[in-house]
Amino acid sequence: MKRVTRDEIKALFDRAEKERFAVPAFNYSDMWDIRAIIEAAEEMRSPVILMCDPPVYKELGGSMSCELADMFIQRAKVPVIHHLDHSETPQNCVEAIDFGFHSVMMDASSSPIDENIAIVKSVAEYAHDRGVFVEAEIGRIRGESEYETSYTGEDYLFDLREALRLVRESGCDSLAIGIGNAHGFYRGAPELNFDKLAEADQAIDIPLVLHGGTGIPAELVGRCISGGIRKVNVGTAVYTSYMNGIRAKLLMDGENQFTYDVMKSGVDTTKNVIRDWIEACGARGKA
Ligand SMILES: [Zn+2]
Repeated sequence: MKRVTRDEIKALFDRAEKERFAVPAFNYSDMWDIRAIIEAAEEMRSPVILMCDPPVYKELGGSMSCELADMFIQRAKVPVIHHLDHSETPQNCVEAIDFGFHSVMMDASSSPIDENIAIVKSVAEYAHDRGVFVEAEIGRIRGESEYETSYTGEDYLFDLREALRLVRESGCDSLAIGIGNAHGFYRGAPELNFDKLAEADQAIDIPLVLHGGTGIPAELVGRCISGGIRKVNVGTAVYTSYMNGIRAKLLMDGENQFTYDVMKSGVDTTKNVIRDWIEACGARGKA
């Protein structure tokens, strides 16, 4: 398998910085939503990041995730980066790198800063020797997982001194920051702290990543990108549009249908959502 190299990924982010757009990143579950993501990206001439969520990784296995993604990546007419999302252990990152992932996220954000640095550093050394890109996380992103729900108040915002230490000492290539963004659906309107984003943008010279894209209105996404965000992660919107497409087809035509007809409906609704996000990221025509 030929992977997109760390240098190529860095060059893409450099271009995103120069031309003020964000690289859209989507979580997949199977071949149908991978197809939706890549077809929509091709139609809009956008580079795209295909992200494997840990539960999907666990279900398919690292080897099959790579082989599945690769079948589509090798045929794609736009650059597609295969990325492991939210790995919570360095062992998992190492395994994913050996299987052929182009990029991995080592999320040790629930650990104290010194530990976070040490863990990311060990992954970055292994990854960089093999031409693989590494994303780290600082601050807290709200969500439904156990450690995420335990955060309160200002905990959601990253600390700039810690962020700078993480970037300098670990050697990570990009950084996910908590500025009030959340995984899953937002309860009420998202409250993003643009002062914190400006702080990060000024001090940190590697690409900044916004997790929890689902539910952030396009206008706010645009503000994040003007503020320095260079990768936007979208998971929940992909999953739910896919399922809603399948559900709509079943409700309309009954349950006794052929799989490919039903899945096609899921692909179509997913593609609509992907197109909207590519547009919101300003990535149309950037491939
Ligand atoms: Zn995330």
